[in-house]
Amino acid sequence: MSTAWSLRSWVRRVRSPAIIAAAVAVVLLASACVPPPPPPPPPGSKVYLTFDDGPSVYTPQILSELKAEGVPATFFVIGANAAQFPSSLQQEHADGEGIGDHTWDHPDLTTLPPDQVRSELQSTADEITNLTGTRPTLWRPPYGAFNAQVTQIASSLGLSMRLWDVDSQDWTMPGTGTIVSNVVNNVSPNAIILLHDGSPDLTGDRSQTVAALPTIIDTLRGQGYSFGALVTISGATTGPTGPSVPIGRE
Ligand SMILES: [Zn+2]
Repeated sequence: MSTAWSLRSWVRRVRSPAIIAAAVAVVLLASACVPPPPPPPPPGSKVYLTFDDGPSVYTPQILSELKAEGVPATFFVIGANAAQFPSSLQQEHADGEGIGDHTWDHPDLTTLPPDQVRSELQSTADEITNLTGTRPTLWRPPYGAFNAQVTQIASSLGLSMRLWDVDSQDWTMPGTGTIVSNVVNNVSPNAIILLHDGSPDLTGDRSQTVAALPTIIDTLRGQGYSFGALVTISGATTGPTGPSVPIGRE
């Protein structure tokens, strides 16, 4: 049954001009409320995928999707998880992905004394260096929580902070479609996008992130974006520095 035929039959059945007019008004109002598609970004615009809290059992799937799409990303890894999944960390490096320091076991650094802040960052940087041969130059604070003391200690270790512009909220497992829309509806040129390939205690289910990633990549490409990394394989920082205040808590 064609749409035009069913519409004609509905109009014949209803026969009330008032109801038909009201229905037309509802349809017009609904179409007026649909937001227009975002304008295409300027040519050459990039966005930056970042994955936190890994490595984990989900990391190989994320890496293989990135490889299949030819898309770079930056991984902010937890030291204890790198020690548990050393081959995944080494695969990130071998694939040319950026790797950053996300502390040893994901504490809120603003609650710790200076020597423990230093130890959290340094032990993770040492683990990354031992496994990949490259010392990290970027870090991201767990929960986006930092203060002047924390950033000073990180700077003294050669670590430059990178927060994020777009929060996928993937760790709340809101459903693949919501993860996709949280990202693709909120990007702008140079946006740093927060996703998760692991979790602090390695119990987090990241299958929705794995399922969402190809659609995120394809949709952003369709919008006119390409993808960049925040750090090169040799540890040189590249790309945007991102916001100085976190967008929510990761
Ligand atoms: Zn984290």
